[in-house]
Amino acid sequence: MNLVLLGPPGAGKGTQANLICEKYKLSHLSTGDLLRMEIANKSEIGVKAKQIIDEGKLVSNDIIISIIKSFFNNNKNSSGYLLDGFPRNTEQAKLLDKLMLELEDKISCVIQLDVEEKHLKERILSRGKEEGRSDDNEKTLLKRLETYFNETMPLIKYYEEANLLKKVIGVGEIMHINQSINSIIDHL
Ligand code: AMP
Repeated sequence: MNLVLLGPPGAGKGTQANLICEKYKLSHLSTGDLLRMEIANKSEIGVKAKQIIDEGKLVSNDIIISIIKSFFNNNKNSSGYLLDGFPRNTEQAKLLDKLMLELEDKISCVIQLDVEEKHLKERILSRGKEEGRSDDNEKTLLKRLETYFNETMPLIKYYEEANLLKKVIGVGEIMHINQSINSIIDHL
């Protein structure tokens, strides 16, 4: 089973991804986490990515391809994947389709976490205080939201047309939202 989690910054993708991966024994691919690891290691990719992330833009597809490839190489025997933060634009979605073909596998479902913009700012600013992420500030958030609307939102239509999209309201109790997601997965 391969799942994609789609949603704006602050929608709760990371929190739900952890719960889903534990319950369904999936390997968690978070391109954001992998990029933050590269930054912490001061690798060549990390150095390139840092400024772009702090500007709220998307890092290049070349960088994403390289971290995705090593993730799949390191998790070859997995029973399934949960993709969180990838794909983020149409080119990446097409890349994922190709990758699934190569693995002789398919995307089982794309779960869209729907959260209104008014809730996002509050969540991101409080996460910024708790976790100290350098892109969780008001200025970068505005750009990240713009990037989401312009580049990532078209994927909703892309996956709707592929008959893969399921929408979940991402506001309320974490475990309540998680139950809604689980019931979708259990019916796949
Ligand atoms: P996230 O933790 O998913 O919110 O990602 C943090 C930042 O990393 C994003 O704002 C982007 O700058 C970058 N990033 C993460 N995933 C991708 C991706 N699939 N494509 C391009 N940039 C990404």
